[in-house]
Amino acid sequence: METQSQVVDRLRAAFSAGITIPEQFRRTQLTKLMSMVKDNEERILIALHKDLAKPKFEAVLSEVDIVINELYYAIDNLSSWLKPEYVSKNLATKLDDCFVQRQPLGVVLIIGPWNYPLQLLLIPLVAAIAAGNCVLIKPSEVSAATDSLIAELIPKYLSQDCYAVVHGGAEETKALLQNRFDHIFYTGSQTVARSIMQAASIHLTPVTLELGGKCPCIIYGKIDITAAARRIAWAKFFNAGQSCVAPDYVLCSPANRDALLPELRKVLENFYGKDPQTCPDFSRIVSPRHWTRLMELLGKSSGKVVLGGESSQEDKYIAPTVLVDVAEDDALMQEEIFGPILPILTIESLEKGIELINRKEKPLALYAFSDESSVVNTVLQNTSSGGFCSNDGIIHMTLPSLPFGGVGASGWGSYHGRWGFEAFSHRRAVMLRGWALERLNGLRYPPYSEDKLSW
Ligand code: NAD
Repeated sequence: METQSQVVDRLRAAFSAGITIPEQFRRTQLTKLMSMVKDNEERILIALHKDLAKPKFEAVLSEVDIVINELYYAIDNLSSWLKPEYVSKNLATKLDDCFVQRQPLGVVLIIGPWNYPLQLLLIPLVAAIAAGNCVLIKPSEVSAATDSLIAELIPKYLSQDCYAVVHGGAEETKALLQNRFDHIFYTGSQTVARSIMQAASIHLTPVTLELGGKCPCIIYGKIDITAAARRIAWAKFFNAGQSCVAPDYVLCSPANRDALLPELRKVLENFYGKDPQTCPDFSRIVSPRHWTRLMELLGKSSGKVVLGGESSQEDKYIAPTVLVDVAEDDALMQEEIFGPILPILTIESLEKGIELINRKEKPLALYAFSDESSVVNTVLQNTSSGGFCSNDGIIHMTLPSLPFGGVGASGWGSYHGRWGFEAFSHRRAVMLRGWALERLNGLRYPPYSEDKLSW
């Protein structure tokens, strides 16, 4: 059994030997990764169901198909991403070749969370392979079934010299981080991100941090409330609210709230029936610890439960739950909820809503719902967030041409599509010079003079 550092050494030897550099090698590995996902779709769906009771439809959409789309996109664009990027020149460099060369970083570490345990490891992996790196993958121990399936499949399909999977929780990951990596790509909580940064500082390793936070959903003015209720409920209760880009709370006027509530009631019944616990289309909370955290949060809230509220510890179930009369200092407003609980806060005006959003850390996603483009534009222009989507939720992250990532406390860096390739590449500034124009160059050599400065 190899130790963690032996695995890192094995990957480093492969990187030093230049195995991952040729475009054809990268293309082959991406194609094999595609086969891995396609050949094993049924097993992947079973593992995801074991971990989170993920409905098949949600798992196909948000774990399998999104990875396959990312693979097609990377394979189609790889040649153009690898081309040197020629830049504009000035008089002194007119005869030179000046371009940006994308180089792989080396041996990179990808640490994943449990909520989308496949896509949040494999989408960064696609980018890291495309960029020519050797990769060590550390899945979350919490999503144990998907973790072991990934560990079984990766060595069967991909080069064992260049890609490896290691298991472990907090202690093993801390030990792993003692090793030197050329980049760390971490998806998870803000708390753990601080330890990751501390560990990375020892070797001055650059990091990409894909974190979370409280994603606001602001509703204002004239609006198609039926469609809004459907879209908000879908984005919130998909994966039982355990999505980093799920709407965390709703801000709206009292009139919008009064119109929204009956629509949400209808929508939830249409989606999940009268008893969502018996509905196969609604996930479970990942672990007893997270179930307890959510129930404690609910217990501490002084808001009024108007929809849902039922739970079962044994089944790790919490019903889709909506609360009103929630104040800004409520327990539910102090941390990312990350579960099927939706507080609704009322605001006096759009400006007050924007002020509330801006008093909090910059979120990973921000959603503005309104028929009025002036409302959407006011929110867009006066807030900052990793991503923004009007009149829908989550869906902006499915487009590989848009960067996906946070800002400030919701994360550093971004990925998906070309943005992921860039995250795992070094942009090397290259100037290829000959011997021409030596007389012009002579101006910079000593002896210096005032005349030379004013030339
Ligand atoms: P987590 O931070 O607890 O765990 C993530 C990973 O870190 C796991 O692999 C875990 O084993 C490891 N880890 C845990 N403790 C560690 C420690 N002390 N030192 C080193 N490594 C450690 O996060 P989670 O509970 O798996 O995920 C939930 C969080 O992730 C939420 O905040 C959510 O918003 C965020 N998230 C962000 C994105 C995104 O793309 N931005 C996606 C999904 C989840």
